[in-house]
Amino acid sequence: MTTEDVLAAARRTVLDQGQGLDEQGVRACLTIPDDRLPELLALAHDVRRRWCGDAVEVEGIVSVKTGGCPEDCHFCSQSGQFESPVRAAWLDVPGMVRAARETRETGATEFCIVAAVRGPDERLLAQVQQAIDAIRADGNDIQIACSLGILTEQQVELLVGMGVHRYNHNLETARSHFSAVVTTHTWEERWQTLELVRDSGMEVCCGGILGMGETLEQRAEFATQLATLAPHEVPMNFLDPRPGTPFASLSPLSAGDALRAIGAFRLALPRTILRFAGGRELTLGDLGTRDGLLGGINAIIVGNYLTTLGRPPVADLALLDELRMPIKALSETL
Ligand code: SF4
Repeated sequence: MTTEDVLAAARRTVLDQGQGLDEQGVRACLTIPDDRLPELLALAHDVRRRWCGDAVEVEGIVSVKTGGCPEDCHFCSQSGQFESPVRAAWLDVPGMVRAARETRETGATEFCIVAAVRGPDERLLAQVQQAIDAIRADGNDIQIACSLGILTEQQVELLVGMGVHRYNHNLETARSHFSAVVTTHTWEERWQTLELVRDSGMEVCCGGILGMGETLEQRAEFATQLATLAPHEVPMNFLDPRPGTPFASLSPLSAGDALRAIGAFRLALPRTILRFAGGRELTLGDLGTRDGLLGGINAIIVGNYLTTLGRPPVADLALLDELRMPIKALSETL
């Protein structure tokens, strides 16, 4: 399919009918020449406005347990298997209540509690339960999501019972590339957790990291695998190579490739919340953040990420204001 064809076809099927691009179409978008990139982003922006609306969802994240993870995800400075500078640490309940309050004060509607683990144990689940109870006792109505690794059916039920409304578990990359990224668990194990979450009625949040040595074909494969899952939200991260990890010497994606990926993923996933997550500052900078928000992105994380620093929340909120993009209100999400 030529570039001309893919954008014309996407206008009909994706924009007019809300059907995502197939793998071949995504591949064509990922290789679109620089002079057609503005056209791809403009179409992706039209698609996001048509099928998701104007509002941007704002989220804050907090790490309840940082570092010391037994898994070997090659991009991750929280793995206990690598020489990385992130030390193991737990955050107490008052600290989580404070973080939730500060997040809500930015106007955010989502607060995600994250732990660096293969999967949660009883201690971790008890800590999450206490934190959620304390956040509610603080009068905070923010919606609470969790990201606690691989789950059993019983653990999924426990989280539903705690009132967790969305669960994040990233597939990270295409199935065909996964074993080059992680060896301590499989893509299929991650998929199983995602199916359990989906069947429980919790919203599914599932994305990954681009720029981990995958080919463009594998990037297109990943977008269509995500489309098969039909997640409520897809966080898009761009590799920010961390010292001490096996991926430390990989080069960050170019801004052009990152923007091509944003446009292509939006056309593959017209109705999904597509969130800018880690690595956007390194890969795209301030100008690219604006291009992404005008090219298919409709959600951001404010403040810091788990192991890297983000832009100050005020800079992102000012940019949304300038672009006349309203922050999604809690009433719209209930
Ligand atoms: S990505 Fe998650 S599971 Fe993998 S090493 Fe990092 S914290 Fe552990």
